[in-house]
Amino acid sequence: MPTESTFLLAGLFLLLAAAGWALGRFGERDEEDAPPPLNVDYLKGLNFLLNEQTDQALEHFLQMVRVDDKTIETHFALGNLFRRRGEVDRAIRIHQNIIARPDIAAEQRDQALYALAKDYLGAGLLDRAENMFARLAEGSRYQVQALQNLCGIYEQEKEWQHAIEAGQKLEQLGGRSLGLQIAHYYCELAEAAAGGGDYAAARQYVKNAQAGRPRTMRGALIRAHIARETDDYKTALRLYHRIIEEHTYLIAVALPEIVATYEREGSTGGLDRALQSMLDKNPDMSTLVAYTAIVNDIGGIPVIDRCVEQYILNEPTLHEFVDLREVSQGGADAHRNALEKVRSALSKLATATPRYQCKECGFSSQRLLWQCPSCRNWETQRPASRVQFDTVLQRSITH
Ligand SMILES: [Zn+2]
Repeated sequence: MPTESTFLLAGLFLLLAAAGWALGRFGERDEEDAPPPLNVDYLKGLNFLLNEQTDQALEHFLQMVRVDDKTIETHFALGNLFRRRGEVDRAIRIHQNIIARPDIAAEQRDQALYALAKDYLGAGLLDRAENMFARLAEGSRYQVQALQNLCGIYEQEKEWQHAIEAGQKLEQLGGRSLGLQIAHYYCELAEAAAGGGDYAAARQYVKNAQAGRPRTMRGALIRAHIARETDDYKTALRLYHRIIEEHTYLIAVALPEIVATYEREGSTGGLDRALQSMLDKNPDMSTLVAYTAIVNDIGGIPVIDRCVEQYILNEPTLHEFVDLREVSQGGADAHRNALEKVRSALSKLATATPRYQCKECGFSSQRLLWQCPSCRNWETQRPASRVQFDTVLQRSITH
């Protein structure tokens, strides 16, 4: 099927044919000269296109039109157009053709190298792209863009140490702080170290993460996790409470950990008091506490159970299905049983719908992702605080 790039190639052949014809007609040429023979070439190129042989047409174009000051922009335009259309092999062919010319200026060579690196990136050839961006990052006018792309590649490859170095260079060159991004690179290293049982290394990485601004509470979460693993419950709880105080939304991740820590310590009474005083300060947190408890199946702690009951009684969508007040007239046991049934149904629904959503691009997922896989921003996901009934209903309609 003819594509945008096929039309561009066809347009280029026609333009070249017209230019050749005009030169032959009006140019200062001797009468005895033969008519411009290259026209045959243009027609041959067009013929390839008409037969949908884009590759042959492209090769023909590249052989006919050498890269020089007058035509270089056309070559770049064509290459970038192919890349944008996802025809990366063709884009690579064009940009390699530019680089192969021995006589182009250094600046244009850099431009072609940068374009070729982006082609490789688009084709998923990360190693090749990385090599080229690394070369451009050493000193060219594409230094900043090359470092930005390198950070992206290292993130994909989980080469966090390299990502830190590229990020720091970028900070120096770009003049803007990448503190949060670099802090997360250190946190990635810390989590890997902690996962391998090397807590000393993990703590050092967390320290590095917390040296930057703006701060992330992810480092504190890692330290709290290490404290729990090493039976230092007092430190773990102190950290979890600080995390929630700084970013209330993190209770979605911290609540199950807090409950598990109090249970291990054998003092759920302490948990009840701590949560109650937190809710006294932040009554708005009640919904998120309830939702987190429902999703993680946390029960048997009076303050949490009260939040869940309140949540169920106040959820407008539920009123269409069940009248809890009517049920509760049957006595305390009937009331408790009714709540329990609704709660377990909600828990099933909640695990089938996304719990976190990126506030930048809307990407949603079941577990908290520190870097959004869609827009690549760090720490932009926020937890839902209610069961997403509309998503559930939509799914049941489409399935
Ligand atoms: Zn996003």
